[in-house]
Amino acid sequence: MSVRVVARIRPLLNTEIDRDAIVTCDGSVVKIPNPKNAGEEYSFSFNNVYDAQSTQQDIFDGEIASTIKHLYNAYDVTLFAYGVTGTGKTHTMRGGKSLADRGVIPRLLSGIYRRARKIEKDSQEETKVEVAMSYYEIYNDKVFDLFEQPDKRSPAGLALRDNGGKTVVVGLTERPCESLKDFERLYDQANMNRSTSATKLNAHSSRSHAILCVKLIVRKGDTIRISTASAIDLAGSEDNRRTDNNKERLVESSAINKSLFVLAQCVEAISKKQARIPYRESKMTRILSLGQSNGLTIMILNLAPVRAYHLDTLASLNFANRTKKIEIREAENEPILKGPPRSASTITGPTIQRQALR
Ligand code: ADP
Ligand code: MG
Repeated sequence: MSVRVVARIRPLLNTEIDRDAIVTCDGSVVKIPNPKNAGEEYSFSFNNVYDAQSTQQDIFDGEIASTIKHLYNAYDVTLFAYGVTGTGKTHTMRGGKSLADRGVIPRLLSGIYRRARKIEKDSQEETKVEVAMSYYEIYNDKVFDLFEQPDKRSPAGLALRDNGGKTVVVGLTERPCESLKDFERLYDQANMNRSTSATKLNAHSSRSHAILCVKLIVRKGDTIRISTASAIDLAGSEDNRRTDNNKERLVESSAINKSLFVLAQCVEAISKKQARIPYRESKMTRILSLGQSNGLTIMILNLAPVRAYHLDTLASLNFANRTKKIEIREAENEPILKGPPRSASTITGPTIQRQALR
């Protein structure tokens, strides 16, 4: 199973309405002119392409809805949005407030809870489903808990540790969420913490990676199965060497670019089947571990159709083209035998997790 790569072309914004769309699609192929020769066109083929008319519902139904049953079968799922700032990553992942505008994350959670209630009601054996979430960002190669208020953060950030082949963030808050309402309240609160730090630092949110982890715990009879859905809104992939940055912003963006640069190197090394994959060279790539983690990985490549993004769009398309060649091990998480009843928050202990994820 390789990484599933789908592209989404956003519509022209009101401010762009007089511009031409230079990025077009035909079936599952994205087309873009050669910047050096307007008569020539490049084509990139993906697993699927969503055009400017596609709705939030279309993306969810086409790509994400089917992952819910995988989660309940104890497979992990990773979704990530890659693209230049302003191409619709946050719109796709988080989306707007109205029901129709909701992005894939709230829709995924809604689907998880709906299935939970059905399973709890219909199962012959007594079954209980629990959901817990953690949410953090990586900024300048430092990890910050988004449940922590920005002014209470330790400037050094949280450490990473290898745990049974998986990278975990040490000391990260995990909150149980009993219902969709619960989840939405915590998710909004954490997103507020993200934007508070964004106003303090110029363009912070486009330079940080936001990583949401939803843990699903299914207790059925004597067994417990745990799986995780990770949804990652990556930093903008634009090449800041081409933009007119002042010095301070260049320091920030080189660090952000570094993690995306390492990601590109990892993708390159994996697709060439090289022995050494430089995962450890940035925190984001250690956590994402493309091609190492088990389960399903879906990358949404967000694209803006306008000429102002031409070179960056081409760079994104080339990156995505290599990413689709990555093979993912598809192994389910083994069930663990239940001891005395535990709550969602105590089951996160390292011993249990190691067993569950081996
Ligand atoms: P990013 O997170 O990649 O920087 P955003 O999600 O913030 O980009 O999107 C940039 C702008 O484009 C926002 O105003 C957003 O509402 C709008 N936008 C993005 N995708 C769409 C879409 N599919 N339909 C309508 N508006 C969109
Ligand atoms: Mg964004």
